[in-house]
Amino acid sequence: MSTPTFDVVVVGGGIVGLATAHAVARTGRSVVVVEREPQLARHQTGNNSNVIHSGLYYAPGGYKARLAVAGCAETVAFCREHDLPHEVTGKLVVATDPEELPRMAELKRRGDANGVENHELDQAGMREHEPHVRGIAALYVPSTGITDYRAIAEKIGELVAKEGGEIHLNRAVTGIARRADDVVVRTETGDLLGKQVVVCAGLRCDEVARAAGADPGVRIIPFRGEYSGFSDRAAELVKGLIYPVPTRRSRSWACTPRAASTGTCTQARTRCSRWPVRATPGAW
Ligand SMILES: Cc1cc2nc3c(=O)[nH]c(=O)nc-3n(C[C@H](O)[C@H](O)[C@H](O)COP(=O)(O)OP(=O)(O)OC[C@H]3O[C@@H](n4cnc5c(N)ncnc54)[C@H](O)[C@@H]3O)c2cc1C
Repeated sequence: MSTPTFDVVVVGGGIVGLATAHAVARTGRSVVVVEREPQLARHQTGNNSNVIHSGLYYAPGGYKARLAVAGCAETVAFCREHDLPHEVTGKLVVATDPEELPRMAELKRRGDANGVENHELDQAGMREHEPHVRGIAALYVPSTGITDYRAIAEKIGELVAKEGGEIHLNRAVTGIARRADDVVVRTETGDLLGKQVVVCAGLRCDEVARAAGADPGVRIIPFRGEYSGFSDRAAELVKGLIYPVPTRRSRSWACTPRAASTGTCTQARTRCSRWPVRATPGAW
């Protein structure tokens, strides 16, 4: 039997691999997504904080700033189009100490330069949004929201298949070898050939780079993180996203309502005030 051949082989079925495959499939080229897990989006994509970030934090002019601002609007549009759970809740970045005010002013400057609507609030203003928050000042960013990235990834997977792309689950890539005209992608269940290979292996990208004979010069060392859920009673105290002013190490906690992983868009909207709320260490 001949080796299955594709224009593009994408390694990794997280949101980046799936979005890449979708972009390829839409041009009419053949594409396969090769994913080691039995389902899509089981790593970062399906376990993140589900925040639709506004692009407030990033240095103006860079790719991160431009892509985050565009991606915020596109994510909301994609959820609306496909009836996926989401809500644009807005976000409050709260300063609790005068020392944080210069960093908050810098955030405002970046937000303005990136075209992210934001408003400075005093104590009364911040309580209009979050009556139980205590702080000395806040920035309110209306465009930040929440969604369910696992549901988004699964939907993109459906679209890839609809456009003729293939998705191979339970198939770990063990090696990649370049040849003159194509690339051999070795997997536990046989080889695939691609004219091009795009590796989107998330926190295993260093491993895959080594398996391709490259020296990435870095090693990713994962560490365990925790989400803490609020009780139903405590969840009533939080309406939207609440973040601290970030520091270089971002040690404090962020509060995020969580989208129901199965609701339709309408259910998501009506259920939002009752979505479980959780706190996340750091500012993701
Ligand atoms: C704790 C945390 C919270 C976050 N919160 C947010 C947030 O709220 N909002 C936001 O926008 N972003 C957030 N992010 C960032 C976001 O989740 C990631 O940028 C995004 O999910 C990365 O997607 P990915 O496809 O690159 O990686 P992943 O989702 O990790 O996917 C990589 C895939 O590659 C597969 N793979 C790896 N090795 C192989 C192999 N050898 N063969 C085959 N398949 C392989 C894996 O199984 C996995 O499915 C957060 C990240 C973290 C860690």
